[in-house]
Amino acid sequence: MTAHETELKTITSWVDGKPAESKSGRTGVVWDPASGEPRGNVEFASAAEVDAAVACAAAAFPQWRAAPLSRRAEAMFALRELVHANRRRLAEIITSEHGKTLSDAMGEVARGIENIEFSCGVPNLLKGGFTEQASRGIDVYEIHQPLGVVAGITPFNFPVMVPLWMFPNAIACGNTFVLKPSEKDPSASLFMAELVRQAGVPDGVFNVIQGDRIAVDRLLDHPDVKAVSFVGSTPVARSIYETATRNGKRVQALGGARNHMLVLPDADIGMAADAAVSAAFGSAGERCMAISIVVAVAGAADPLIDAVRERMAKIKIGPGMEDGNEMGPLITREHRDRVASYLDIAKAEGATVCVDGREHPVSGRKGFFLGTSLIDRVQPGMRCYEDEIFGPVLGIARAKTYREAVEIINGNQYGNGAAIFTRDGGAARQFQFDVEAGMVGINVPIPVPVAWYSFGGWKSSLFGDLHMYGPEGIRFYTRTKVLTSRWPDPATSSVNLGFPQVR
Ligand code: NAD
Repeated sequence: MTAHETELKTITSWVDGKPAESKSGRTGVVWDPASGEPRGNVEFASAAEVDAAVACAAAAFPQWRAAPLSRRAEAMFALRELVHANRRRLAEIITSEHGKTLSDAMGEVARGIENIEFSCGVPNLLKGGFTEQASRGIDVYEIHQPLGVVAGITPFNFPVMVPLWMFPNAIACGNTFVLKPSEKDPSASLFMAELVRQAGVPDGVFNVIQGDRIAVDRLLDHPDVKAVSFVGSTPVARSIYETATRNGKRVQALGGARNHMLVLPDADIGMAADAAVSAAFGSAGERCMAISIVVAVAGAADPLIDAVRERMAKIKIGPGMEDGNEMGPLITREHRDRVASYLDIAKAEGATVCVDGREHPVSGRKGFFLGTSLIDRVQPGMRCYEDEIFGPVLGIARAKTYREAVEIINGNQYGNGAAIFTRDGGAARQFQFDVEAGMVGINVPIPVPVAWYSFGGWKSSLFGDLHMYGPEGIRFYTRTKVLTSRWPDPATSSVNLGFPQVR
Protein backbone atom coordinates (compact mmCIF):
# COMPACT_ATOMS: atom_id res chain seq x y z
CA MET A 1 0.00 0.00 0.00
CA THR A 2 1.35 3.47 -0.86
CA ALA A 3 1.92 6.25 1.68
CA HIS A 4 -0.87 8.20 0.01
CA GLU A 5 -3.34 5.41 0.73
CA THR A 6 -2.45 5.21 4.39
CA GLU A 7 -3.48 8.86 4.92
CA LEU A 8 -6.91 9.53 6.34
CA LYS A 9 -9.17 9.50 3.33
CA THR A 10 -12.70 10.57 2.55
CA ILE A 11 -14.97 7.85 1.27
CA THR A 12 -17.79 9.11 -0.92
CA SER A 13 -20.85 7.67 -2.60
CA TRP A 14 -20.87 6.75 -6.30
CA VAL A 15 -23.68 7.97 -8.53
CA ASP A 16 -24.00 8.14 -12.32
CA GLY A 17 -20.62 6.51 -12.94
CA LYS A 18 -18.56 8.78 -10.70
CA PRO A 19 -17.81 9.62 -7.06
CA ALA A 20 -20.55 11.70 -5.45
CA GLU A 21 -19.67 13.91 -2.50
CA SER A 22 -22.18 14.45 0.28
CA LYS A 23 -23.28 17.80 1.61
CA SER A 24 -25.00 16.27 4.65
CA GLY A 25 -22.10 17.12 6.95
CA ARG A 26 -22.53 13.72 8.61
CA THR A 27 -19.66 11.23 8.53
CA GLY A 28 -18.50 8.04 10.22
CA VAL A 29 -15.01 6.89 11.12
CA VAL A 30 -13.61 3.89 9.27
CA TRP A 31 -11.03 2.08 11.40
CA ASP A 32 -8.01 -0.05 10.69
CA PRO A 33 -8.91 -2.86 13.11
CA ALA A 34 -5.34 -4.16 13.20
CA SER A 35 -3.85 -0.90 14.51
CA GLY A 36 -6.92 0.56 16.17
CA GLU A 37 -6.25 3.79 14.25
CA PRO A 38 -8.76 5.66 12.08
CA ARG A 39 -8.30 5.06 8.35
CA GLY A 40 -10.81 7.41 6.86
CA ASN A 41 -14.13 9.14 7.09
CA VAL A 42 -17.14 7.89 5.21
CA GLU A 43 -19.68 10.48 4.17
CA PHE A 44 -23.26 9.68 5.16
CA ALA A 45 -25.80 10.51 2.47
CA SER A 46 -28.88 12.58 3.28
CA ALA A 47 -32.38 11.51 2.22
CA ALA A 48 -32.20 14.01 -0.67
CA GLU A 49 -28.92 12.45 -1.84
CA VAL A 50 -30.54 9.01 -1.76
CA ASP A 51 -33.35 10.46 -3.88
CA ALA A 52 -30.79 11.73 -6.38
CA ALA A 53 -29.16 8.27 -6.64
CA VAL A 54 -32.53 6.56 -7.08
CA ALA A 55 -33.53 9.14 -9.73
CA CYS A 56 -30.30 8.43 -11.59
CA ALA A 57 -30.90 4.66 -11.42
CA ALA A 58 -34.52 5.16 -12.54
CA ALA A 59 -33.37 7.26 -15.51
CA ALA A 60 -30.87 4.56 -16.54
CA PHE A 61 -33.45 1.77 -16.36
CA PRO A 62 -35.38 2.09 -19.67
CA GLN A 63 -32.25 1.87 -21.82
CA TRP A 64 -30.58 -0.82 -19.74
CA ARG A 65 -33.63 -3.09 -19.72
CA ALA A 66 -33.83 -2.65 -23.49
CA ALA A 67 -30.16 -3.62 -23.96
CA PRO A 68 -29.83 -7.02 -25.65
CA LEU A 69 -29.20 -9.90 -23.29
CA SER A 70 -25.96 -10.63 -25.10
CA ARG A 71 -24.80 -7.09 -24.30
CA ARG A 72 -25.65 -7.50 -20.59
CA ALA A 73 -23.91 -10.88 -20.49
CA GLU A 74 -20.88 -9.36 -22.18
CA ALA A 75 -20.65 -6.74 -19.41
CA MET A 76 -20.77 -9.51 -16.79
CA PHE A 77 -17.99 -11.42 -18.55
CA ALA A 78 -15.91 -8.22 -18.56
CA LEU A 79 -16.66 -7.60 -14.88
CA ARG A 80 -15.61 -11.15 -14.04
CA GLU A 81 -12.25 -10.60 -15.74
CA LEU A 82 -11.72 -7.23 -14.03
CA VAL A 83 -12.56 -8.50 -10.55
CA HIS A 84 -10.36 -11.52 -11.11
CA ALA A 85 -7.46 -9.34 -12.32
CA ASN A 86 -7.89 -7.03 -9.29
CA ARG A 87 -8.61 -9.71 -6.71
CA ARG A 88 -5.50 -9.02 -4.65
CA ARG A 89 -6.22 -5.28 -4.52
CA LEU A 90 -9.81 -5.97 -3.48
CA ALA A 91 -8.61 -8.38 -0.80
CA GLU A 92 -6.18 -5.75 0.53
CA ILE A 93 -9.00 -3.23 0.81
CA ILE A 94 -11.10 -5.80 2.68
CA THR A 95 -8.28 -6.63 5.10
CA SER A 96 -7.42 -3.00 5.74
CA GLU A 97 -10.96 -2.10 6.84
CA HIS A 98 -12.39 -5.41 8.06
CA GLY A 99 -9.30 -6.97 9.58
CA LYS A 100 -9.65 -10.55 8.25
CA THR A 101 -6.47 -12.14 6.96
CA LEU A 102 -5.44 -11.51 3.38
CA SER A 103 -5.87 -15.18 2.43
CA ASP A 104 -9.37 -15.19 3.92
CA ALA A 105 -10.15 -11.98 2.01
CA MET A 106 -8.88 -13.64 -1.20
CA GLY A 107 -11.30 -16.49 -0.47
CA GLU A 108 -14.13 -14.00 -0.06
CA VAL A 109 -13.35 -12.42 -3.44
CA ALA A 110 -13.16 -15.86 -5.08
CA ARG A 111 -16.62 -16.78 -3.75
CA GLY A 112 -17.92 -13.44 -5.01
CA ILE A 113 -16.48 -14.08 -8.48
CA GLU A 114 -18.55 -17.29 -8.63
CA ASN A 115 -21.66 -15.13 -8.48
CA ILE A 116 -20.50 -12.96 -11.37
CA GLU A 117 -19.80 -16.12 -13.36
CA PHE A 118 -23.33 -17.34 -12.68
CA SER A 119 -24.76 -14.05 -13.95
CA CYS A 120 -22.80 -14.44 -17.22
CA GLY A 121 -25.34 -17.14 -18.11
CA VAL A 122 -28.21 -14.66 -17.98
CA PRO A 123 -29.43 -15.32 -21.54
CA ASN A 124 -30.01 -18.92 -20.57
CA LEU A 125 -31.34 -18.07 -17.10
CA LEU A 126 -34.02 -15.76 -18.49
CA LYS A 127 -35.38 -18.27 -20.98
CA GLY A 128 -39.13 -18.52 -20.51
CA GLY A 129 -41.46 -21.40 -21.31
CA PHE A 130 -43.54 -21.78 -24.49
CA THR A 131 -46.58 -23.96 -25.03
CA GLU A 132 -47.69 -24.31 -28.60
CA GLN A 133 -51.38 -25.05 -29.22
CA ALA A 134 -52.47 -24.71 -25.57
CA SER A 135 -55.92 -24.41 -27.10
CA ARG A 136 -56.90 -24.46 -30.75
CA GLY A 137 -54.70 -21.85 -32.48
CA ILE A 138 -53.56 -20.48 -29.15
CA ASP A 139 -50.00 -20.38 -27.80
CA VAL A 140 -49.07 -19.57 -24.21
CA TYR A 141 -45.67 -18.38 -23.11
CA GLU A 142 -43.97 -16.69 -20.22
CA ILE A 143 -41.26 -14.06 -20.08
CA HIS A 144 -39.20 -12.71 -17.18
CA GLN A 145 -38.82 -8.97 -16.95
CA PRO A 146 -36.75 -6.79 -14.61
CA LEU A 147 -38.36 -4.89 -11.75
CA GLY A 148 -36.75 -1.44 -12.13
CA VAL A 149 -34.57 0.14 -9.45
CA VAL A 150 -33.57 -2.37 -6.77
CA ALA A 151 -31.57 -1.73 -3.59
CA GLY A 152 -29.04 -3.82 -1.70
CA ILE A 153 -28.12 -3.17 1.94
CA THR A 154 -25.09 -5.13 3.09
CA PRO A 155 -23.22 -6.01 6.32
CA PHE A 156 -19.63 -5.39 7.36
CA ASN A 157 -18.45 -8.99 7.41
CA PHE A 158 -18.30 -9.62 3.63
CA PRO A 159 -17.87 -6.20 2.01
CA VAL A 160 -17.20 -7.73 -1.44
CA MET A 161 -18.92 -11.12 -1.50
CA VAL A 162 -22.34 -10.09 -0.19
CA PRO A 163 -22.76 -7.19 -2.66
CA LEU A 164 -21.70 -9.69 -5.35
CA TRP A 165 -24.46 -12.04 -4.15
CA MET A 166 -26.84 -9.30 -5.27
CA PHE A 167 -25.87 -6.86 -7.97
CA PRO A 168 -24.46 -9.03 -10.81
CA ASN A 169 -27.70 -11.00 -11.01
CA ALA A 170 -29.81 -7.88 -10.52
CA ILE A 171 -28.20 -5.87 -13.29
CA ALA A 172 -27.76 -8.85 -15.62
CA CYS A 173 -31.55 -9.25 -15.40
CA GLY A 174 -31.93 -5.63 -16.59
CA ASN A 175 -32.51 -3.83 -13.27
CA THR A 176 -30.58 -0.82 -12.07
CA PHE A 177 -29.04 -0.96 -8.61
CA VAL A 178 -28.40 1.18 -5.54
CA LEU A 179 -26.01 -0.41 -3.02
CA LYS A 180 -25.87 0.78 0.60
CA PRO A 181 -22.78 -0.96 2.00
CA SER A 182 -21.80 -1.17 5.65
CA GLU A 183 -20.42 2.12 6.94
CA LYS A 184 -17.71 0.13 8.77
CA ASP A 185 -15.84 -1.02 5.63
CA PRO A 186 -17.19 1.00 2.70
CA SER A 187 -14.16 1.36 0.41
CA ALA A 188 -14.49 -1.97 -1.43
CA SER A 189 -17.89 -0.89 -2.79
CA LEU A 190 -16.30 2.11 -4.50
CA PHE A 191 -13.56 0.02 -6.06
CA MET A 192 -16.20 -2.42 -7.34
CA ALA A 193 -18.19 0.52 -8.77
CA GLU A 194 -15.09 1.59 -10.71
CA LEU A 195 -14.70 -1.97 -12.06
CA VAL A 196 -18.39 -2.05 -13.04
CA ARG A 197 -17.82 1.16 -15.01
CA GLN A 198 -14.73 -0.27 -16.69
CA ALA A 199 -16.74 -3.37 -17.60
CA GLY A 200 -18.88 -1.19 -19.85
CA VAL A 201 -22.00 -1.03 -17.70
CA PRO A 202 -23.64 2.34 -18.51
CA ASP A 203 -23.46 5.11 -15.92
CA GLY A 204 -26.40 5.08 -13.51
CA VAL A 205 -26.98 1.32 -13.70
CA PHE A 206 -24.88 0.67 -10.57
CA ASN A 207 -24.75 3.26 -7.78
CA VAL A 208 -23.41 3.25 -4.24
CA ILE A 209 -24.90 5.30 -1.42
CA GLN A 210 -22.79 5.48 1.72
CA GLY A 211 -24.60 6.02 4.95
CA ASP A 212 -26.48 4.80 7.94
CA ARG A 213 -30.07 4.39 8.97
CA ILE A 214 -31.15 7.65 7.31
CA ALA A 215 -30.12 6.34 3.89
CA VAL A 216 -31.69 2.93 4.55
CA ASP A 217 -34.98 4.43 5.72
CA ARG A 218 -35.21 6.55 2.58
CA LEU A 219 -34.52 3.55 0.33
CA LEU A 220 -37.30 1.66 2.12
CA ASP A 221 -39.73 4.55 1.68
CA HIS A 222 -38.83 5.53 -1.87
CA PRO A 223 -41.65 4.69 -4.29
CA ASP A 224 -39.24 4.02 -7.17
CA VAL A 225 -37.31 1.33 -5.28
CA LYS A 226 -39.11 -1.86 -6.28
CA ALA A 227 -37.17 -4.46 -4.30
CA VAL A 228 -34.79 -4.62 -1.37
CA SER A 229 -32.14 -7.27 -0.70
CA PHE A 230 -30.78 -7.03 2.83
CA VAL A 231 -28.14 -8.98 4.71
CA GLY A 232 -27.36 -8.17 8.34
CA SER A 233 -28.43 -8.82 11.90
CA THR A 234 -31.83 -10.30 12.71
CA PRO A 235 -33.45 -7.29 14.46
CA VAL A 236 -32.59 -5.04 11.50
CA ALA A 237 -33.61 -7.72 8.97
CA ARG A 238 -36.98 -8.12 10.65
CA SER A 239 -37.64 -4.40 10.72
CA ILE A 240 -36.50 -3.93 7.09
CA TYR A 241 -38.77 -6.75 5.99
CA GLU A 242 -41.74 -5.29 7.84
CA THR A 243 -41.22 -1.72 6.59
CA ALA A 244 -40.40 -2.56 2.98
CA THR A 245 -43.25 -5.05 2.56
CA ARG A 246 -45.65 -2.51 4.11
CA ASN A 247 -44.43 -0.13 1.41
CA GLY A 248 -45.28 -2.67 -1.27
CA LYS A 249 -41.74 -3.78 -2.09
CA ARG A 250 -40.38 -7.22 -2.75
CA VAL A 251 -37.95 -8.10 0.05
CA GLN A 252 -35.41 -10.74 0.94
CA ALA A 253 -33.89 -9.94 4.34
CA LEU A 254 -31.23 -12.34 5.58
CA GLY A 255 -30.55 -12.15 9.31
CA GLY A 256 -28.21 -13.50 11.94
CA ALA A 257 -27.26 -17.02 12.87
CA ARG A 258 -26.19 -19.50 15.51
CA ASN A 259 -24.93 -22.42 13.46
CA HIS A 260 -24.72 -25.76 15.23
CA MET A 261 -22.42 -28.65 14.49
CA LEU A 262 -23.65 -31.98 15.80
CA VAL A 263 -20.88 -34.46 16.56
CA LEU A 264 -21.84 -38.10 17.03
CA PRO A 265 -19.58 -40.41 19.06
CA ASP A 266 -18.67 -42.39 15.93
CA ALA A 267 -17.25 -39.30 14.16
CA ASP A 268 -13.54 -38.98 13.48
CA ILE A 269 -12.83 -36.68 16.43
CA GLY A 270 -9.66 -35.21 14.93
CA MET A 271 -11.48 -34.29 11.74
CA ALA A 272 -14.45 -32.87 13.67
CA ALA A 273 -12.08 -30.78 15.82
CA ASP A 274 -10.27 -29.45 12.72
CA ALA A 275 -13.63 -28.48 11.23
CA ALA A 276 -15.00 -26.91 14.42
CA VAL A 277 -11.87 -24.81 15.01
CA SER A 278 -11.66 -23.68 11.36
CA ALA A 279 -15.35 -22.80 11.18
CA ALA A 280 -15.57 -21.16 14.61
CA PHE A 281 -12.47 -18.97 14.47
CA GLY A 282 -11.96 -18.23 10.75
CA SER A 283 -12.53 -14.51 10.17
CA ALA A 284 -12.55 -14.17 14.00
CA GLY A 285 -15.99 -15.80 14.07
CA GLU A 286 -17.49 -12.89 12.13
CA ARG A 287 -19.16 -15.11 9.54
CA CYS A 288 -22.88 -15.72 9.28
CA MET A 289 -22.03 -19.37 8.53
CA ALA A 290 -19.48 -19.72 11.35
CA ILE A 291 -19.98 -22.69 13.64
CA SER A 292 -20.67 -21.10 17.01
CA ILE A 293 -22.10 -24.11 18.88
CA VAL A 294 -20.94 -27.71 18.84
CA VAL A 295 -23.51 -30.17 20.14
CA ALA A 296 -21.51 -33.17 21.28
CA VAL A 297 -23.45 -36.39 21.75
CA ALA A 298 -22.59 -38.71 24.67
CA GLY A 299 -18.92 -39.76 24.69
CA ALA A 300 -17.92 -37.31 21.91
CA ALA A 301 -17.71 -34.28 24.23
CA ASP A 302 -14.55 -34.81 26.31
CA PRO A 303 -12.22 -36.03 23.56
CA LEU A 304 -13.54 -33.33 21.23
CA ILE A 305 -12.91 -30.56 23.77
CA ASP A 306 -9.33 -31.79 24.26
CA ALA A 307 -8.75 -31.89 20.51
CA VAL A 308 -10.30 -28.42 20.03
CA ARG A 309 -8.20 -26.88 22.82
CA GLU A 310 -5.03 -28.35 21.39
CA ARG A 311 -5.80 -26.78 17.99
CA MET A 312 -6.90 -23.43 19.46
CA ALA A 313 -3.56 -23.02 21.19
CA LYS A 314 -1.79 -23.18 17.82
CA ILE A 315 -3.84 -20.52 15.98
CA LYS A 316 -1.66 -17.59 14.96
CA ILE A 317 -3.47 -14.35 15.71
CA GLY A 318 -2.26 -10.97 14.48
CA PRO A 319 -2.70 -8.34 11.77
CA GLY A 320 -4.37 -9.78 8.69
CA MET A 321 -1.81 -8.22 6.36
CA GLU A 322 1.08 -10.13 7.96
CA ASP A 323 1.92 -13.46 6.39
CA GLY A 324 1.30 -16.50 8.52
CA ASN A 325 -1.46 -15.08 10.69
CA GLU A 326 -4.61 -17.20 10.65
CA MET A 327 -6.96 -14.90 12.56
CA GLY A 328 -7.16 -11.12 12.62
CA PRO A 329 -8.84 -8.57 14.88
CA LEU A 330 -12.55 -7.85 15.27
CA ILE A 331 -14.25 -5.07 13.38
CA THR A 332 -14.43 -2.36 16.11
CA ARG A 333 -13.39 -1.83 19.70
CA GLU A 334 -17.06 -1.81 20.80
CA HIS A 335 -17.75 -5.09 19.06
CA ARG A 336 -14.63 -6.70 20.55
CA ASP A 337 -15.70 -5.58 24.05
CA ARG A 338 -19.26 -6.81 23.50
CA VAL A 339 -17.98 -10.23 22.41
CA ALA A 340 -15.64 -10.39 25.42
CA SER A 341 -18.49 -9.51 27.78
CA TYR A 342 -20.10 -12.88 26.95
CA LEU A 343 -17.29 -14.62 28.82
CA ASP A 344 -18.45 -13.01 32.08
CA ILE A 345 -22.07 -13.65 31.16
CA ALA A 346 -21.27 -17.32 30.54
CA LYS A 347 -19.54 -17.66 33.93
CA ALA A 348 -22.46 -15.99 35.70
CA GLU A 349 -24.90 -18.32 33.94
CA GLY A 350 -23.07 -21.43 35.15
CA ALA A 351 -21.34 -22.43 31.91
CA THR A 352 -17.66 -23.41 32.05
CA VAL A 353 -15.20 -21.05 30.37
CA CYS A 354 -12.42 -23.48 29.39
CA VAL A 355 -10.42 -20.93 27.40
CA ASP A 356 -10.81 -17.18 27.98
CA GLY A 357 -9.64 -15.21 24.93
CA ARG A 358 -8.99 -12.14 27.07
CA GLU A 359 -6.03 -13.97 28.58
CA HIS A 360 -4.39 -14.47 25.17
CA PRO A 361 -1.34 -12.17 24.78
CA VAL A 362 -2.83 -10.71 21.57
CA SER A 363 -5.64 -9.14 23.60
CA GLY A 364 -3.11 -6.65 24.98
CA ARG A 365 -2.07 -5.42 21.52
CA LYS A 366 -3.13 -2.21 19.88
CA GLY A 367 -6.01 -2.94 17.57
CA PHE A 368 -9.27 -4.74 18.20
CA PHE A 369 -7.84 -8.15 19.02
CA LEU A 370 -9.31 -10.87 21.17
CA GLY A 371 -7.98 -14.40 21.59
CA THR A 372 -10.14 -17.44 20.92
CA SER A 373 -12.52 -18.67 23.64
CA LEU A 374 -14.17 -21.98 24.43
CA ILE A 375 -17.22 -22.32 26.67
CA ASP A 376 -18.38 -25.77 27.74
CA ARG A 377 -21.84 -26.75 29.03
CA VAL A 378 -23.79 -23.99 27.32
CA GLN A 379 -27.50 -24.66 27.40
CA PRO A 380 -30.68 -23.35 25.82
CA GLY A 381 -32.00 -20.46 27.88
CA MET A 382 -28.54 -19.07 28.64
CA ARG A 383 -27.69 -15.79 26.89
CA CYS A 384 -24.26 -17.21 26.01
CA TYR A 385 -26.16 -19.84 24.01
CA GLU A 386 -29.14 -17.92 22.63
CA ASP A 387 -27.50 -14.65 21.54
CA GLU A 388 -25.54 -14.27 18.33
CA ILE A 389 -22.09 -13.39 19.75
CA PHE A 390 -20.44 -12.98 16.31
CA GLY A 391 -16.86 -13.35 17.49
CA PRO A 392 -14.20 -15.99 18.21
CA VAL A 393 -16.18 -17.78 20.92
CA LEU A 394 -17.13 -21.44 20.50
CA GLY A 395 -19.80 -22.95 22.76
CA ILE A 396 -20.14 -26.66 23.51
CA ALA A 397 -23.56 -28.07 24.38
CA ARG A 398 -23.79 -31.65 25.57
CA ALA A 399 -26.60 -34.04 24.59
CA LYS A 400 -27.18 -37.62 25.67
CA THR A 401 -28.67 -38.77 22.36
CA TYR A 402 -28.95 -37.81 18.69
CA ARG A 403 -32.63 -36.98 19.29
CA GLU A 404 -31.84 -34.62 22.18
CA ALA A 405 -29.16 -32.92 20.05
CA VAL A 406 -31.61 -32.32 17.20
CA GLU A 407 -34.17 -30.92 19.65
CA ILE A 408 -31.57 -28.42 20.89
CA ILE A 409 -30.75 -27.34 17.33
CA ASN A 410 -34.36 -27.09 16.20
CA GLY A 411 -35.33 -25.20 19.37
CA ASN A 412 -32.94 -22.37 18.52
CA GLN A 413 -34.49 -19.26 16.95
CA TYR A 414 -31.99 -19.26 14.06
CA GLY A 415 -31.82 -21.70 11.17
CA ASN A 416 -29.09 -20.51 8.83
CA GLY A 417 -26.69 -23.46 8.64
CA ALA A 418 -26.24 -26.72 10.54
CA ALA A 419 -23.74 -29.55 10.19
CA ILE A 420 -23.38 -33.14 11.32
CA PHE A 421 -20.13 -35.02 11.76
CA THR A 422 -20.46 -38.79 11.70
CA ARG A 423 -19.33 -41.92 9.86
CA ASP A 424 -22.91 -43.24 9.85
CA GLY A 425 -24.67 -42.53 6.54
CA GLY A 426 -28.05 -43.41 8.02
CA ALA A 427 -27.63 -40.87 10.84
CA ALA A 428 -26.53 -38.22 8.36
CA ARG A 429 -29.54 -38.87 6.16
CA GLN A 430 -31.85 -38.69 9.18
CA PHE A 431 -30.26 -35.34 10.14
CA GLN A 432 -30.85 -34.02 6.63
CA PHE A 433 -34.53 -34.96 7.10
CA ASP A 434 -34.90 -33.63 10.65
CA VAL A 435 -32.92 -30.43 10.93
CA GLU A 436 -34.61 -27.04 10.63
CA ALA A 437 -31.99 -25.04 8.77
CA GLY A 438 -31.71 -23.73 5.24
CA MET A 439 -28.18 -24.99 4.54
CA VAL A 440 -26.88 -28.28 5.86
CA GLY A 441 -23.41 -29.77 5.88
CA ILE A 442 -22.61 -33.46 6.14
CA ASN A 443 -19.02 -33.61 7.39
CA VAL A 444 -18.80 -30.06 5.99
CA PRO A 445 -18.81 -27.30 8.61
CA ILE A 446 -19.59 -24.21 6.50
CA PRO A 447 -22.02 -25.33 3.81
CA VAL A 448 -22.23 -22.08 1.83
CA PRO A 449 -23.90 -23.18 -1.40
CA VAL A 450 -22.02 -22.75 -4.68
CA ALA A 451 -23.33 -19.90 -6.86
CA TRP A 452 -25.65 -22.03 -8.97
CA TYR A 453 -27.68 -22.99 -5.89
CA SER A 454 -29.19 -20.33 -3.63
CA PHE A 455 -28.21 -19.10 -0.17
CA GLY A 456 -30.67 -18.66 2.66
CA GLY A 457 -31.60 -19.74 6.14
CA TRP A 458 -34.87 -20.59 7.84
CA LYS A 459 -36.68 -19.10 10.84
CA SER A 460 -35.13 -15.85 12.19
CA SER A 461 -32.24 -16.15 9.70
CA LEU A 462 -34.35 -15.06 6.71
CA PHE A 463 -37.44 -12.93 6.25
CA GLY A 464 -39.01 -13.26 2.82
CA ASP A 465 -39.71 -16.08 0.44
CA LEU A 466 -36.77 -16.27 -1.91
CA HIS A 467 -33.20 -17.09 -1.03
CA MET A 468 -30.30 -15.06 -2.34
CA TYR A 469 -28.26 -15.58 -5.54
CA GLY A 470 -28.44 -18.58 -7.87
CA PRO A 471 -31.80 -19.50 -9.43
CA GLU A 472 -33.82 -17.91 -6.60
CA GLY A 473 -31.83 -14.68 -7.04
CA ILE A 474 -32.90 -14.57 -10.69
CA ARG A 475 -36.53 -15.09 -9.64
CA PHE A 476 -36.20 -12.36 -7.02
CA TYR A 477 -34.94 -9.81 -9.54
CA THR A 478 -37.53 -10.55 -12.23
CA ARG A 479 -41.28 -10.74 -12.52
CA THR A 480 -43.06 -13.14 -14.74
CA LYS A 481 -45.51 -12.24 -17.46
CA VAL A 482 -47.62 -14.98 -19.06
CA LEU A 483 -48.87 -14.33 -22.56
CA THR A 484 -51.76 -15.97 -24.34
CA SER A 485 -51.71 -15.30 -28.06
CA ARG A 486 -53.69 -16.19 -31.20
CA TRP A 487 -53.64 -15.01 -34.80
CA PRO A 488 -57.07 -16.06 -36.04
CA ASP A 489 -58.67 -15.39 -39.39
CA PRO A 490 -60.96 -12.39 -38.64
CA ALA A 491 -63.66 -14.14 -40.66
CA THR A 492 -63.97 -16.79 -37.93
CA SER A 493 -64.45 -14.18 -35.17
CA SER A 494 -67.72 -13.98 -33.20
CA VAL A 495 -69.03 -12.69 -29.88
CA ASN A 496 -68.91 -15.33 -27.13
CA LEU A 497 -69.78 -14.33 -23.55
CA GLY A 498 -68.76 -17.70 -22.09
CA PHE A 499 -65.63 -18.01 -19.94
CA PRO A 500 -62.65 -19.01 -22.12
CA GLN A 501 -62.08 -22.77 -22.01
CA VAL A 502 -59.48 -24.98 -23.52
CA ARG A 503 -60.93 -26.66 -26.59
P1 NAD B 1 -26.18 -4.81 10.82
O1 NAD B 1 -27.55 -5.38 10.84
O2 NAD B 1 -25.74 -3.96 11.95
O3 NAD B 1 -25.98 -3.89 9.50
C1 NAD B 1 -26.30 -4.38 8.20
C2 NAD B 1 -26.64 -3.18 7.33
O4 NAD B 1 -27.81 -2.53 7.85
C3 NAD B 1 -25.55 -2.12 7.27
O5 NAD B 1 -25.49 -1.61 5.96
C4 NAD B 1 -26.03 -1.07 8.26
O6 NAD B 1 -25.61 0.23 7.92
C5 NAD B 1 -27.54 -1.17 8.17
N1 NAD B 1 -28.20 -0.89 9.45
C6 NAD B 1 -27.74 -1.15 10.69
N2 NAD B 1 -28.66 -0.80 11.62
C7 NAD B 1 -29.72 -0.31 10.94
C8 NAD B 1 -30.99 0.20 11.33
N3 NAD B 1 -31.34 0.28 12.60
N4 NAD B 1 -31.85 0.58 10.37
C9 NAD B 1 -31.50 0.49 9.07
N5 NAD B 1 -30.32 0.02 8.64
C10 NAD B 1 -29.44 -0.39 9.56
O7 NAD B 1 -25.19 -6.04 10.57
P2 NAD B 1 -23.61 -6.03 10.61
O8 NAD B 1 -23.17 -5.87 12.02
O9 NAD B 1 -23.08 -5.12 9.57
O10 NAD B 1 -23.30 -7.52 10.10
C11 NAD B 1 -23.28 -8.63 10.94
C12 NAD B 1 -24.62 -9.31 10.96
O11 NAD B 1 -24.97 -9.72 9.64
C13 NAD B 1 -24.61 -10.58 11.78
O12 NAD B 1 -25.81 -10.65 12.50
C14 NAD B 1 -24.53 -11.68 10.73
O13 NAD B 1 -25.05 -12.93 11.13
C15 NAD B 1 -25.34 -11.09 9.65
N6 NAD B 1 -25.05 -11.70 8.37
C16 NAD B 1 -25.95 -12.57 7.86
C17 NAD B 1 -25.69 -13.20 6.66
C18 NAD B 1 -26.68 -14.16 6.07
O14 NAD B 1 -26.46 -14.54 4.96
N7 NAD B 1 -27.72 -14.55 6.77
C19 NAD B 1 -24.52 -12.91 5.96
C20 NAD B 1 -23.62 -12.00 6.51
C21 NAD B 1 -23.90 -11.40 7.72
